[in-house]
Amino acid sequence: MGIRYSKVYGKFAREIVLLKSFPCIYGKCSFCNYIEDNSIDENEINSINLEVLKEITGEFKILEVINSGSVFEIPQKTLEKIREIVYEKNIEILYFEAYYTYINRLDEIISFLIKIKK
Ligand code: SF4
Repeated sequence: MGIRYSKVYGKFAREIVLLKSFPCIYGKCSFCNYIEDNSIDENEINSINLEVLKEITGEFKILEVINSGSVFEIPQKTLEKIREIVYEKNIEILYFEAYYTYINRLDEIISFLIKIKK
């Protein structure tokens, strides 16, 4: 599985998870070999991701999620788990990646995350 969970210390201390996802919508950046981590097997993606997400403690209140693609390529089940953890662990800042072609869909992910706000 490799190392998919890490902590960054210092001024911008945060937890980082490298999640598996469906293929990047663009997939053509010449320098990119991240997409080799992409998969089309949703069960495999979710099972790896759910294991990785168990590592999150929320200690810095900041979580960065990277996935060799965009947030919209992360399966729903994984996103629901991220949302659950964010509220459970009182994470205040959550970062995702998104390729610019998804710019019109940003509201979608924001409302998904805010829906369960207490
Ligand atoms: S958008 Fe990101 S994941 Fe997709 S090909 Fe470019 S660098 Fe790789």
